Amino acid sequence: MQKGKISVQTENIFPIIKQFLYSDQEIFLRELVSNAVDATQKLRTLHSKGEYKGDLGDTRIEILLDEEAKTLTIRDKGIGMNEEEVMKYLNQVAFSSAQEFLDKYKDDASVIGHFGLGFYSAFMVADKVDVLTKSYRDKSQAVQWSCTGDPEYEFGEIDKAARGTDIVLHISDDSKEYLDKARIQTLLDKYCKFLPVEIQFGTKTETTYEGEGDDKETIETEVDNIVNNPNPLWKKKPNKLTDEDYKAFYKELYPYAPDPLFWIHLNIDFPFDLTGVLYFPKLNNSLEVQKNKIQLYSNQVYVTDDVKEIVPEFLMLLHGVIDSPDIPLNVSRSYLQADTNVKKITNYITKKVADKLNSLFKADREAYEAKWDDIGVFVKYGLVSEEKFGEKAVKFSLLKDTDKKYYTIEEYKENISESQKDKYDKVVAIYANNTEEQHSYIKSVQDYGYNVILFDHMIDNHYMQHLESKHSDMTFVRVDSETADKLVQKDETKESVLSEKEQEKVKTLFTETLGAGTFVDLRPLSPSDHPVLITKPEFMRRMKEMQMMQGMDMSMLPDNHNVVVNTNHPLIATKLLKMRSAEKKTEFTKYLYMLAKLNQKMLTGEEMSNFIEKSIDFLQEG
Ligand code: ADP
Repeated sequence: MQKGKISVQTENIFPIIKQFLYSDQEIFLRELVSNAVDATQKLRTLHSKGEYKGDLGDTRIEILLDEEAKTLTIRDKGIGMNEEEVMKYLNQVAFSSAQEFLDKYKDDASVIGHFGLGFYSAFMVADKVDVLTKSYRDKSQAVQWSCTGDPEYEFGEIDKAARGTDIVLHISDDSKEYLDKARIQTLLDKYCKFLPVEIQFGTKTETTYEGEGDDKETIETEVDNIVNNPNPLWKKKPNKLTDEDYKAFYKELYPYAPDPLFWIHLNIDFPFDLTGVLYFPKLNNSLEVQKNKIQLYSNQVYVTDDVKEIVPEFLMLLHGVIDSPDIPLNVSRSYLQADTNVKKITNYITKKVADKLNSLFKADREAYEAKWDDIGVFVKYGLVSEEKFGEKAVKFSLLKDTDKKYYTIEEYKENISESQKDKYDKVVAIYANNTEEQHSYIKSVQDYGYNVILFDHMIDNHYMQHLESKHSDMTFVRVDSETADKLVQKDETKESVLSEKEQEKVKTLFTETLGAGTFVDLRPLSPSDHPVLITKPEFMRRMKEMQMMQGMDMSMLPDNHNVVVNTNHPLIATKLLKMRSAEKKTEFTKYLYMLAKLNQKMLTGEEMSNFIEKSIDFLQEG
């Protein structure tokens, strides 16, 4: 063996490689396997062009682990290198590109994981690296290059029959984990799952069963452990794929997830190169846990599952794969956000998603409505957060009412514009966010022929505000709000059965009993409505909800509410007015008020105990 010295320009980079890249150490395997894939594909290209006339043979890449010798070997049957090439590529190209990379990015560890420093990343985990290689060219002499992680290297001719390259890593004591079979399998699964050349990591036992019942026999066979799928679905032509293929691929990506609702195959080569498949998962009610499910690849090499800068936030709820060599990975995050190519990619994905939803909506409205409960959150999230998506989404964003009927926003507005208008001529949409708790309010509003929308997800607060900002002639009020109640009262056919004098009496009774601070409003509602109702100002309630979402203290805002007395209810119109004893009247008034509070879940503590005792008394009175 001869000795040589890699020309070091600045400082010795080997200690830096170890030190700075500690957090992303594991990417060495991806880097070395990618090089092996490149070498194999180069040979295939030469073969297809007729420049390599030999037999390609089995070109699979092998990963060999020898725990005793403490080595991990990456073996390919690709183009290999001759002496000259080893000198050029390993001593100069690989070295100087690693050095350049480190000089540039050693302070930004996040970049390193995205874009490794190639061959030299081997020194993150190895004390010594041997490269045994033989070029594809006729009569090539095989050579070995060895380096122990300082600028000196050894070099010599060797006997090697097979074409291609073995990279032998002598794993260092502090990187022993890479001598563990399970750990290597995990890394291969993570980084190499869809690399375009078959990769074998030893063998595995496959269990099959033969026969039936008691005669059932378990047969165990040793088979090659191929770790990757070299022809992933996203690289195939969409018109050659069936729904089953898409579902099977989804299972391959997320073995435990329920079937996706639908998917989009991304496939574009101009003005940038991007392929991939995005799936709409079945969402649950929370937004957070679902994120980080999209994997980013560059030419089938896994890069990251953190796609924040490339995909708009709302699209991160989707699952799947994006593969683009045009996403610049060797740059910092802030740069990525400003990059025009990335912006174009983001817009393309957003547009594709909007178009897909629109076509589903148009093609089969019924099927789309059936999916709405699952995709609604996603569409609303996109609508409020992405202007461009929002412009398209108004057409296929739906409102669902308490009878489970679905409307587009325009349809809904049209539908209620006749009957549900306030005195400023604004269309008033009434919504409930909890059909259980607001049951009596919903029922009463519906009795007047009004419609109630269901807004029961936390995104709906934002959605509603967004709709109001886009439709200045429309306003949303909760079913138990003052405004919803006033809308009902506008129904002029209703008149009070009480004379003005009697009404005055009722009002005084309530105001005096409930205290001067309470606002009492008399309404000639239907006799089947509740005798006393509590309504809350919509504005104040929304302020509180917003503060609650931001985790602020809400005690600053008063809990004010209005008391609506239904003068047409027999308990008011007949029973209360006919009572003789002033004491009884006050007691009864208080009780009706507490009933209304109970309906709004406002009764707690002592008030609740009093209410229950009073009820028992009343029942005993017979
Ligand atoms: P990059 O792959 O980004 O060019 P590397 O540092 O990983 O940088 O490798 C430097 C060069 O060494 C490669 O461009 C290639 O020419 C050569 N090389 C590395 N690994 C192999 C291999 N397994 N077979 C053939 N050539 C290789």
